[in-house]
Amino acid sequence: MTMTPESLTPDAALHGSFADLGLSAQLLKALSEEGYTTPTPIQAKAIPHVLAGRDLFGCAQTGTGKTAAFALPLIDRLRAAPRKPEPRRCRVLVLAPTRELAAQIHESFLSYGRHSGVRAAVIYGGVGQQRQARAMMHGVDVLVATPGRLLDLIGQRLVDIRSVEYLVLDEADRMLDMGFIHDVRKIVGQMPRDRQTLFFSATLPAEVRDLADSMLRNPLEVRTAPRSTPAETVSQSVVFVAKREKKALLVKLLREEATGRVIVFARTKHGADKLHRDLEKAGIDAAAIHGNKSQAQREKALAAFKSPRPPVLVATDIAARGIDVDDVAHVVNFELPHEPETYVHRIGRTGRAGQTGAAVSFCDAEERSRLTAIERLLCRPIPARNQPPAGDPAAGMAESVPPARSSDRGTASRRQVRGRPGRAPGRGPSRPGAREQSPGSTAAVAAPPRAAQHARRKHRRAL
Ligand code: AMP
Repeated sequence: MTMTPESLTPDAALHGSFADLGLSAQLLKALSEEGYTTPTPIQAKAIPHVLAGRDLFGCAQTGTGKTAAFALPLIDRLRAAPRKPEPRRCRVLVLAPTRELAAQIHESFLSYGRHSGVRAAVIYGGVGQQRQARAMMHGVDVLVATPGRLLDLIGQRLVDIRSVEYLVLDEADRMLDMGFIHDVRKIVGQMPRDRQTLFFSATLPAEVRDLADSMLRNPLEVRTAPRSTPAETVSQSVVFVAKREKKALLVKLLREEATGRVIVFARTKHGADKLHRDLEKAGIDAAAIHGNKSQAQREKALAAFKSPRPPVLVATDIAARGIDVDDVAHVVNFELPHEPETYVHRIGRTGRAGQTGAAVSFCDAEERSRLTAIERLLCRPIPARNQPPAGDPAAGMAESVPPARSSDRGTASRRQVRGRPGRAPGRGPSRPGAREQSPGSTAAVAAPPRAAQHARRKHRRAL
C-alpha cells in the first residue's frame, strides 16, 4: 500500500531520500521493502527534528504519510536507547480516536519496525479486553490506544503509563469532536512531564490549540497543507435535488457514473442503514459501516470494500475514519454534513495518492445553508450540475434531476445483487492507504462550552 510521493507535491524532488533524513539501516530496509522511495513532505520536514528529540505540532491533511512521519523516528529513538519494557508499561504511547485508526497505526509500527525488534500492542474498545491485557502483561515498546479503553485498563491496573517517554496524539481535532478531550487530558495528566510529544491535527479549532499549548514544549510546527483545502485531484460538484428524489438519483449515479470504488456518506446511523437497504433493494451491492456495527461487522464490510468487486460503502462520518483505501473513485454526499470541515474530510477519501477522484454532493432545499457554509470554508463555489431552483427551492427539482428509470430499480435477482449489476466490469483492483481528518464544529465553537458539549454529544450519538 504505497502512494507516489512525487504526486503529492510538485517539489518532491526537494525532499531527498530517507537515508538523508538520518534513519537507521534497519528502517531503510523496511521502507524499501514497503516500496517507499521518497519521503513525503511531512516526513522530510518532521523526521530529522523528531530524531533530534524535538516536540512536534503537525497540521497534516489526510493521506500525507503522517503515520510514518512519527513512527519512523520514534522507532529509531527507541533503538538509540534500548531498554527492556517493564510489565504493563510502554515507552511510546500513541493515542488515536478510533479503533480502526489505532489498528492501522499499530500495523504501521509493526511493518516499519520489523527489522528493529519493536514490540507493539494495540488496545481499543468494542472487543474483549483479555487479549489486550495479556499483550501488555510483559510490557511493550509501543502501545497504540483509543482513550476510553486505555483509561479502563489503567483503572484496572492492567496498563501503567507512568514511564512513557514518547507521546503521540493523532487526529486531535477528531478526538475533540468525538468528545474524548477530557479522557485525553486525564491520560496526559498521568504521564511524566519529561517526555517528547508529537501532536497531529488536521484542523485547528481553538480547543485543539489550547490542548496543544498545554502539552507541547517549544514544538516545531509542520504544516503540509492549508487548513481545509481539498486535494486538487478531486473534482467536486453539487446536484440540487429534492429530498424525495435523492435515492433515485443515487441509484442512477451508481449505475451510470460512479462505477469505481464508492463511498456514500449518510449523516446518521439510521439513515445509513436505510440507504443500505434501499440500494440492495435496487439491486446494487452495498455494505454499511457506522457506530452501531460490531467490530466484526465493520471488518467484514471493510474487507469487502477492499476486494476487487467492492460493494458501495454507505458510511457515517465517524465510522468512515478507519477506511484505509487509496483508490476510492467517488465520494457521494447523500446528505451534506452539518460541519463544513467534515465535507473536506469526506471528499479527502477520494483523489488520494495523486489519483483523480470525484465528489458529488446532493443538496436539497433544507441543506442550502450547509452548502453555503461549505463554499465559504472552501472560499469558492462548488460547480453545480444543474440550476439551483428559483423561488420555492423544491419546485424546480423534478425537471433538473432525472430519476432513475423504473426498470433500473427493485427487480434484481439475488445473484445480481451480489454482482452489482450495471457497474462497469474490470474495475480497478484495491490499492489502499487512507485515513481521515477532523472537523471542528462551527456550531460548537460559537456556542458556550456546555451547550457546545451537549450539541457534540447529541451529534455523536446520531453518527
Ligand atoms: P498516512 O497519511 O499515514 O495515512 O499514509 C497514507 C498512505 O501513504 C499509507 O498507505 C502509507 O502506507 C503510504 N505512505 C506513507 N509514506 C509513504 C512514502 N514515503 N512513500 C510511499 N507511500 C507512503
